[in-house]
Amino acid sequence: MAAEIQPQPQARKPCLLSKIEAFQEVVTSAVIIPKEDGVISVSEDRAIRVWLKRDSGQYWPSVHHTMPSSSTCMSFNPETRRLSVGMDTGSICEFVLSEDYNKMTPARTYQAHQGRVTVVLFVLEMEWLLSTGQDKNFTWHCSESGQQLGTYRTAAWVSGLQFDVETRHAFVGDQSGQVTILKLEQDICSLVTTFKGHTGNVTALCWDPVQRVLFSGSSDHSIIMWDIGGRKGTAIELQGHNDKVQGLCYASHTRQLISCSSDGGIVIWNMDVTRQETPEWLDSDSCQKCEQPFFWNFKQMWDSKKIGLRQHHCRKCGQAVCGKCSSKRSTIPLMGFEFEVRVCDSCHESITDEDRAPTATFHDSKHGIVYMHYEPTTGNLLTSGADKVIKVWTETNGCIFGSQIREGTFTRLSLIHLPKRLGLFRLLLTNPLTF
Ligand SMILES: [Zn+2]
Ligand SMILES: [Zn+2]
Repeated sequence: MAAEIQPQPQARKPCLLSKIEAFQEVVTSAVIIPKEDGVISVSEDRAIRVWLKRDSGQYWPSVHHTMPSSSTCMSFNPETRRLSVGMDTGSICEFVLSEDYNKMTPARTYQAHQGRVTVVLFVLEMEWLLSTGQDKNFTWHCSESGQQLGTYRTAAWVSGLQFDVETRHAFVGDQSGQVTILKLEQDICSLVTTFKGHTGNVTALCWDPVQRVLFSGSSDHSIIMWDIGGRKGTAIELQGHNDKVQGLCYASHTRQLISCSSDGGIVIWNMDVTRQETPEWLDSDSCQKCEQPFFWNFKQMWDSKKIGLRQHHCRKCGQAVCGKCSSKRSTIPLMGFEFEVRVCDSCHESITDEDRAPTATFHDSKHGIVYMHYEPTTGNLLTSGADKVIKVWTETNGCIFGSQIREGTFTRLSLIHLPKRLGLFRLLLTNPLTF
């Protein structure tokens, strides 16, 4: 099936630039320093390290700072060189890095949470430090005064946090699979809406402030694109991973979504194409193609002396069909199905080769990704793996290394049925957002 998945001719591929292998423990979070050819990492071994690339082409630590406990997350602001590090004790430690990145000075400590800090996000425009913790609190502090401005209790502990500076909305994704939109004033926080589309935890969120689209990634292997700016409640499911989605980044200049999963997969999605929502699954007591009864339809089974069949659904038209009438599989990239899914025979005939052209490229980072960071000015990508290695990737057109197109491995079927779950999203969005 090698011919099924071909990269687009001009598709860019991640090409491995460098590796940093000097870690004793897994790196929980790391960022690329723009312009400096450097990396900042925080790790379970309690160390904060700043790595600069030397003439040898190797990264060497220019700062090695040991914390009293493990660091769980961080936020780095390149303009102010301010580094905010969340700790498993619940505090957030702030540092300022020197211009040459050879020195790191402690600035402030916030007693933000009772228990592990799960996400920290510094917003320069507001001078706000947003954070979430295992105590299920979303908290924001003024980074000038150090004062806590407010707090909001979330349904479950939070693993994804994004902020829209223009409208001051915070997007909060939690372990129950729910995404909550909060409107923040100086010290007041109000609930705008909640939506739920995932069957697993939300593991990552990514906000595109230009198109006003929110992407959520989940342990259920799927990504959902929530078109908030469109105000029609459109939500598109993207199925391109075989394992837990671990990170999402949006490259606005190329209109690409980059996603990664714990099996090492990196998927680069072309977001310039218009995708469609998947259809509602239809209910029927018999196959909507050959009219054979399904197994619970005892009356028709008895009347027609036929054996009941198992019900399946065509992913393209949503019709309830038997196995015989839906024996073929196809990718439907414009519906977000980059993997082959069940389609009925007539839909299979209607899908052209052009329709099957993938809208994403698939790459293997060769380590189980725990964290990913994208640096937009250089276009470089960083992955931190369960193998305690950091890999820095660059995007190129002609690179072969590190960018294998996986062939014929896309067998996972969509186990979840999205439109019904998204009905809720549509419902909630009929209450106008104050965007
Ligand atoms: Zn049938
Ligand atoms: Zn069909």
